[in-house]
Amino acid sequence: MPSIDALADRLSTYLGPDQVNLVRRAYFYAEQAHDGQRRRSGEAYVTHPLAVASILADMHMDHQSLMAAMLHDVIEDTGIAKEALSSQFGETVAELVDGVSKLTQMNFETKAEAQAENFQKMAMAMARDIRVILVKLADRLHNMRTLEVLSGEKRRRIAKETLEIYAPIANRLGMHSVRIEFEDLGFKAMYPMRSARIYQAVKRARGNRKEIVNKIEESLSHCLAVDGIEGEVSGRQKHIYGIYKKMRGKRRAFNEIMDVYAFRIIVDKVDTCYRVLGAVHNLYKPLPGRFKDYIAIPKANGYQSLHTTLFGMHGVPIEIQIRTREMEEMANNGIAAHWLYKSSDDEKPKGGTHARARQWVKGVLELQQRAGNSLEFIESVKIDLFPDEVYVFTPKGRIMELPKGSTAVDFAYAVHTDVGNSCIACRINRRLAPLSEPLQSGSTVEIVSAPGARPNPAWLNFVVTGKARTHIRHALKLQRRSESINLGERLLNKVLNGFDSALDKIPPERIQAMLGEYRLELIEDLLEDIGLGNRMAYVVARRLLSTEGEQLPNPEGPLAIRGTEGLVLSYAKCCTPIPGDPIVGHLSAGKGMVVHLESCRNISEIRHNPEKCIQLSWAKDVTGEFNVELRVELEHQRGLIALLASSVNAADGNIEKISMDERDGRISVVQLVVSVHDRVHLARVIKKLRALTGVIRITRMRA
Ligand code: MN
Repeated sequence: MPSIDALADRLSTYLGPDQVNLVRRAYFYAEQAHDGQRRRSGEAYVTHPLAVASILADMHMDHQSLMAAMLHDVIEDTGIAKEALSSQFGETVAELVDGVSKLTQMNFETKAEAQAENFQKMAMAMARDIRVILVKLADRLHNMRTLEVLSGEKRRRIAKETLEIYAPIANRLGMHSVRIEFEDLGFKAMYPMRSARIYQAVKRARGNRKEIVNKIEESLSHCLAVDGIEGEVSGRQKHIYGIYKKMRGKRRAFNEIMDVYAFRIIVDKVDTCYRVLGAVHNLYKPLPGRFKDYIAIPKANGYQSLHTTLFGMHGVPIEIQIRTREMEEMANNGIAAHWLYKSSDDEKPKGGTHARARQWVKGVLELQQRAGNSLEFIESVKIDLFPDEVYVFTPKGRIMELPKGSTAVDFAYAVHTDVGNSCIACRINRRLAPLSEPLQSGSTVEIVSAPGARPNPAWLNFVVTGKARTHIRHALKLQRRSESINLGERLLNKVLNGFDSALDKIPPERIQAMLGEYRLELIEDLLEDIGLGNRMAYVVARRLLSTEGEQLPNPEGPLAIRGTEGLVLSYAKCCTPIPGDPIVGHLSAGKGMVVHLESCRNISEIRHNPEKCIQLSWAKDVTGEFNVELRVELEHQRGLIALLASSVNAADGNIEKISMDERDGRISVVQLVVSVHDRVHLARVIKKLRALTGVIRITRMRA
């Protein structure tokens, strides 16, 4: 029966007494938190976290990982808050527990098999501290070891998830032993019959082969002894799931796979590996083409070893792996090997845990670079540990991979261009969120779209994907073009009307001739140019009409502004005109038309230049909200902002911005930006404000 005392004894071989005590405290906390809860097997719940911690103790993990293992189900199963753990055991342990809980909450079951790889990546991306993954793997390992008590349905689900998600993660991290156990236990739960049959066959074959195995082992040991090499020879057994995969994948018969005799020779240092290789090649003839030097060229996850196959006596093939003890440790424990420091304190790796993970990555990377092949490794491991991507779900459970920092708008464009173009809002994990919020791995993102909605130029400030950027620009360009054409047509017609003509009254040949003169293809190109302010409507009109008339008088009657012109028409910030104000339009090249107050000082010099400014009026049915800036001087009083706001509201106005500076102790000056429909509306707002007590003066600000 495992107990905390037995575990503490083992821990004291490599942890200090203070650290062992912290682990004990975490155990007792968990015991109390889970009090009354039982595992399916009937045992007290706390036996599970204790077993998980014990698995991590085998890997010599640090005390914080062990504490997190003790507490890993506390948030999930007992409703104790992360903050409570934080104040009891510190921020780091609380973060670890929280990370494990989040992984546990991820629901893999309904997702397509093809997404398994993305799930692996997502799990990695979610765990900012690699220890979260290690605790989770240990948790899963214990659950797999005790899987039998669960119902068939649940058992298969967990086994499938283990095979598809957790075994590959263990593999990526080089944790061979954990992966093998995941695979064999998972296979057994998924296919109990097949697993049992292979197990029986292996057992039988082993019995039959015992004699040969012993003989080979003896001759290998003898051969090392003759050369004065110290090495440990052991028979190697293939794991059940590995045999099954070989039978399926390579379509080999069971006997073919089992007819291979596998051994491992472990020595003290790298030189010795090559000496052993020479010795065994001397003993039996090597099979050509089967020698692999993974010491010089390590595998992607850092695995190092020499592999060779020999023709043994009677021609039986013998597979041999030769490696150092260190390589063996790395092959079995992978990233966890970095916690496997021996008892004395000075050997402990320095720095945080991520530093350890980086150290592992760095180590493997160096091996790869020395071998001149780092690409595969970078692909498969580094990215997973220090991800540059976020992984999020669509509402239907599909996983989308996006660059770090991506927002809902990037997500929308990644789903489909139309979704991006018509998106107006988003929900992240079912709550409304700003479109600009950077997405976190594991979130579910839902886009709210509206037909006819258009991309907002402001999105360009926060999108990170090229796709989103390109499509927003493109959509804006198209929108701008159609709006420019529309405005250009109205501008041109207005001038033509002044001459008792109109665009549709001009003979098509005349228009064609003029497009030729301007080197333009379509009439739309010309209208767009006019709308954008690159060409003057007045000049174009004169040229269009010049065959019919001579000198033309200045056209009369202003163009009416409807408020729906869009991007090609803007309202000057200097004088903020609103419907009802006398206005003029200033055409600036490329920017379209800017509407100013007739009295605006900024345009006083060009107001009478018909090539730069045109008379405008407001259409009767002008729509929209227009901002005006008001300056209110009033006696200082409590709740002054609230008073102002409610008066503006009472007049159906809307405060867009408010700022206040105190003149002296008694008088305050408040700057308000209020949105109104027109002058009449503004007058109503001002009247309401004036009715407030203590108001001294209200001024509309304009240049
Ligand atoms: Mn658990």
